[in-house]
Amino acid sequence: MKLYRLRSLIFLSSVLALAASVALAEEAISVTVDATKTRQKLLHTHLVIPVKPGPLTLLYPKWIPGEHGPDGPIANLTGLKFAADGQTIPWQRDLLDVFTFHLEIPSGVSHLDVNFDYIEPDGASATDKLLVLEWNEVVLYPADVLAEKLTYEAKLVRPDGWKFGTALPIESEDRNQVSFKPISLDMLVDSPVITGEFYRSIDLTPPGEPVHHEIDIAADSADALNMSPENQKEMVNLVAESGKLFGTRHYRDYHFLLALSDHVAHFGLEHHESNNSRLPERTLLSPSSGMSLGGLLAHEFVHSWNGKFRRPANLTVPYYQQPMKTDLLWSYEGLTDYLGPMLAARSGLWTPDQYRESLASVAAMLGPGRPGRTWRPLLDTAVGEPGLGFARGWLNWRRGTDYYDEGNLLWLEVATIVHRESGGRKSIDDFCQEFHGGPNHGPQVKTYTFDDLVKTLNALAPFDWARFFHTRLTSTSAEAPVGGIENGGWKIEFSDKPLKLEGRRGNPGDVYSIGLQVASDGVVTDAIVGSPAFEAGISSQMKIVGVNGRVYTQELLSDAIRSAKDTAQPITLLVVVDDFFRTCTINYHDGARYPHLVRDGERPDYLNELIKPQAVSH
Ligand SMILES: [Zn+2]
Repeated sequence: MKLYRLRSLIFLSSVLALAASVALAEEAISVTVDATKTRQKLLHTHLVIPVKPGPLTLLYPKWIPGEHGPDGPIANLTGLKFAADGQTIPWQRDLLDVFTFHLEIPSGVSHLDVNFDYIEPDGASATDKLLVLEWNEVVLYPADVLAEKLTYEAKLVRPDGWKFGTALPIESEDRNQVSFKPISLDMLVDSPVITGEFYRSIDLTPPGEPVHHEIDIAADSADALNMSPENQKEMVNLVAESGKLFGTRHYRDYHFLLALSDHVAHFGLEHHESNNSRLPERTLLSPSSGMSLGGLLAHEFVHSWNGKFRRPANLTVPYYQQPMKTDLLWSYEGLTDYLGPMLAARSGLWTPDQYRESLASVAAMLGPGRPGRTWRPLLDTAVGEPGLGFARGWLNWRRGTDYYDEGNLLWLEVATIVHRESGGRKSIDDFCQEFHGGPNHGPQVKTYTFDDLVKTLNALAPFDWARFFHTRLTSTSAEAPVGGIENGGWKIEFSDKPLKLEGRRGNPGDVYSIGLQVASDGVVTDAIVGSPAFEAGISSQMKIVGVNGRVYTQELLSDAIRSAKDTAQPITLLVVVDDFFRTCTINYHDGARYPHLVRDGERPDYLNELIKPQAVSH
């Protein structure tokens, strides 16, 4: 059953190529990654690839699962050398694709030696004290063979004394070298390794749970590893709540891989049996640790079911050269972005208040904070991801990756409609058990289409789901889709009381008053098109250096917004544009405005029902 549909997908088009390459798939490829120079930000790879004489095409992974785009870091592949029997073999890069290398294997040669270096970009995945290794960065693979049909024998050599964690099954260990059991390329690429000088592994398996769960933490300091007993309990709750929500698991065991550093990129990447998550060094020591863990780790964990096990057919490709179609990202990421916070609240990582404040922040950001809604429908944010997802600045007008946040609101609305249309007999939990359920056969892929989603929902609660999704996905209304919040018995109101949120989303600051998002150094990270500040001439990337005649601080800007309320006095900002000063006069007199959810006494509080703990173990 494994990857059955995936195999049939490419069968017709690739049958000849597969026949020619099948010998390559029979013997394992060996890959040894020497990470002992991690501190110099250089990894060395040595591959031994079984080959036959004649033309050979080798590929560097291009379309990376979970990243939804052709962003394999090919520019960091350096020092590339091919050799066989001690003789150098010349290579050529493909004229149309920089990820593709062509060679001619001489007669009599059965094994190809490949050596290259991978440069760890500054601020990506390596620090003086830790490394997060994603195998797609350090492998080449023969063209035209399914990733699941290629077997790799992987070894990792670590700096002395560094410990490690991974979901990869281990064959043997010898001092700082670990050999992993032979594994298919798709599973190798799906199984990163975290390693570091300061390392700690904590068992997160709930009592009575047969499948092992752990968190493997590497940090830039020993202190940073100190996860509080409360957070540990809440993470165990998260595992228990996930079991209750989905009713099953689709992995052998599960590893949360967490890197804590101020010198790595902060994001999470989902895998079937693990996730690669990164947060600032002192996250676990901060009062908002639960908010940070719940915001990132719960999302990546949900992906094991939604994204890895159930995966849109258009995002399921047989190897990394084939482009993905991203039109269902509002389901892949959007449903995950709904379920992650819901589980964070059910497990106690988030309080109900934090859950509601987060929702208010999302809804406000997609309403008054997103004039780009008027030209770009939700569906296009998903479809455009491979080319547009990484664009920075002007997010209110570009929209960027709104399929996450708007997907959250969309699926909350789905949850309330399932409840309403089934007369309270069915819930989003029933949907998850139906859609993501089935026996645990380890990591599997079961692809789906839009029609499959609609069919599953209809079976639970008959409704015109296709029309509902179509309307939401193609809307160019300026208003955020807040039907789920309202059906749940709450509404959004603005007040001068700041949001209590800390952690992942931060404080939206002055977005809903003058219309600016400003970093602590005064750089405008976004200026809402049409807002008072935008109309006064301010836009993204300008730097505010003065507020009403004084040197800029965030506090002075907040004071200025408050004191201009109900007066005729404008707010005067001195900004730097390129290397010119400009004085901008903002006529805004409504004071500070922050979004909050308030109860609608006319309706029952279903929103709160949805985030109540469901698992019996806590
Ligand atoms: Zn995600």
